[in-house]
Amino acid sequence: MARCHVAKFTDDELGMKRGITRRDLLNGMLVGGGAAALTALPGGAAHASSGHGGGSAYPPSSNGVVGQTDAARTVGHNVTFGGADTGPARDLREHYDLVVVGGGVSGLAAAYFYRKTFGSRARVLVLEALADFGGHQHRNEFRVQGRTLLSNGGMVNLDSPDTWNSPSLNLMEDLGIDFAKLAEGVDTGYYTSKGLGTGYFFPEESFGADRLVTRGATEALSALIARLPLSETARADILKVENTTEDYFPGLSDADKKQRLARISYADYLRRHVGVGEEALVFYQRRTHGLWGTGIEAVPAGDCWGTGLPGFKGLGLEPTPYNGIGRTPAMSLTTTDEELYYFPDGGATVSRLLVSRLVPGVFSGRQTVESIITAGADYGRLDRSGADVRIRLNAMATDVRHRRGTRGPVDVSYVSGGKAYRVSGSHVVMACWNSVASYIVPGLPAAQVEAMRYGVKVPLVYARVALRDWRAWERAGISRVTPYDTFWDSCSLATPTHQGGYESARRSDQPIVVTLSKTPNQPGLPITRDQHRAGRRQLLETSFSDYEREIRDLMQRALGPSGFRASKDIMAITVNRWSHGYAYEYNSIADPVIFKPVAEQPFVRARRPFGNITIANSDAGAFGYTHAAVDEAARAVKELT
Ligand SMILES: Cc1cc2nc3c(=O)[nH]c(=O)nc-3n(C[C@H](O)[C@H](O)[C@H](O)COP(=O)(O)OP(=O)(O)OC[C@H]3O[C@@H](n4cnc5c(N)ncnc54)[C@H](O)[C@@H]3O)c2cc1C
Repeated sequence: MARCHVAKFTDDELGMKRGITRRDLLNGMLVGGGAAALTALPGGAAHASSGHGGGSAYPPSSNGVVGQTDAARTVGHNVTFGGADTGPARDLREHYDLVVVGGGVSGLAAAYFYRKTFGSRARVLVLEALADFGGHQHRNEFRVQGRTLLSNGGMVNLDSPDTWNSPSLNLMEDLGIDFAKLAEGVDTGYYTSKGLGTGYFFPEESFGADRLVTRGATEALSALIARLPLSETARADILKVENTTEDYFPGLSDADKKQRLARISYADYLRRHVGVGEEALVFYQRRTHGLWGTGIEAVPAGDCWGTGLPGFKGLGLEPTPYNGIGRTPAMSLTTTDEELYYFPDGGATVSRLLVSRLVPGVFSGRQTVESIITAGADYGRLDRSGADVRIRLNAMATDVRHRRGTRGPVDVSYVSGGKAYRVSGSHVVMACWNSVASYIVPGLPAAQVEAMRYGVKVPLVYARVALRDWRAWERAGISRVTPYDTFWDSCSLATPTHQGGYESARRSDQPIVVTLSKTPNQPGLPITRDQHRAGRRQLLETSFSDYEREIRDLMQRALGPSGFRASKDIMAITVNRWSHGYAYEYNSIADPVIFKPVAEQPFVRARRPFGNITIANSDAGAFGYTHAAVDEAARAVKELT
């Protein structure tokens, strides 16, 4: 279990036993029959949270733990590693031109590109293990006091499109996505304009009493640092990191400095070169969680410089990538685009648009970028016999093999509802994760299997909490809480969006979504991939009640003095659990192979076509972004021509 402290309040005081979902369903407060505009299936969401899986005929409105649930994981692991008897696969006598394994954006884009390449009469089946399409592009919906609240359950931002390749840019154009318009709908400056800043929460367990130190929206960082409940030395260290103009590598060229930074961690750079003590390092420890899932002791200093973390001003580095830099910092250095591009449901709208183009009828009529945001979806129409494209949810592929050698049709077995089935395809695109593909495609060359298992996906948890209002936040003068060394990495009011007739809360007496994130890991394990494995174990051992208690406890302690009452103010909780989150991105400390030519790196060996089976997914680019997932889909389809 990954808890960092014991909850200060009792479960009763936190409202743990309040049974929000059932009670609120009775009151019609969550999405349900009352949300017919959004759920084309009447009453489709009327399933109470069980805390696990939260099954629903309309998955975006499921509460409890969603995302990669135990149910989906167990099927895959049991069938692949033994222990499950699903009987012989029943041959459904369904043959498709293309079978796609994995219904994330990469799989959906592969289906879309295939039909563009092979013609719109091509028949395609997409198999998806989870209860929803879109993979990490997952949408959360709540309904509170008559308002629908949307949020991203996973992927949020279409990052730096000025660095994208043509397949991703062309797909966005085909879908009608106008980046400039998208950015207009994200009101990044809203809370600052209301004078709301950030609160740093220091827990009683380490600081003797709970303290929320707030920084006003326009207040200088130095003023905040002066108030932090840390030793004078630690405060001076933090000030130094933020303001230093010293060149710690005098006499070295730009290239040599960058190579030095590539070979030490950010923690070591701060410790050894900037001279920061251990107490101040804690202040920075989680700064790298959001991008890489590990702390500063596991991320190269060069990658931190590339993404704008403090402490490097005096080195006078040219803002250009270098051999060994990670792909995310390389993107940060290359882009000149500072905008955020997301929908009220993050990037889930991209998957919804793809589905609307692939399977007419799931969304009524021809959907535009604007109309689809509040459009209902009929999940019952995703997999209709006779349709050219079918998307089969809750279907975990377990065996993908050519009928003969590495030519001709490919048989694909999958498990659904505890039973095994078989279909076939002239072509197959594996748009699931590389590690999965390595187990379920027998006959792959050993070197390719090894390459596919090299990366370890980053585990992440995004919790979404529907509040009936955010007056306590306004009274506290903040829109976000940064907890200091506790369970959650961050906790914020969702950034307001207005798009396609959807408006998030602008007034503090209106319901709102709070977003919390956690990237479990085990600091100190020398190999980043082992940290992700350890983090995944923690994530899987943490129950919904544990997450819920940590959510309520943090918010009560940080905002209680401003009038927040967890037992009354929290209306619903959805925990999006991504045990297999971001694609693994190589870094220059853990992966010396990053210094080799790209063609020699494992992810390139891993994506070689195998007969009529090709490999998509963001793992195939070792780059956890939507544009990588889409570009890899385009390549995988091209390889089939
Ligand atoms: C919390 C989070 C936040 C993110 N934020 C951003 C962001 O802001 N911007 C950005 O660009 N990217 C972000 N990403 C990265 C994200 O991974 C990509 O943007 C993209 O959505 C990945 O798509 P994919 O199709 O490659 O993988 P996935 O979304 O993982 O899709 C693969 C699908 O395959 C399915 N599958 C696996 N095995 C099987 C099987 N055997 N049979 C059938 N189906 C199977 C899985 O269930 C999954 O749905 C984020 C990721 C996470 C987890």
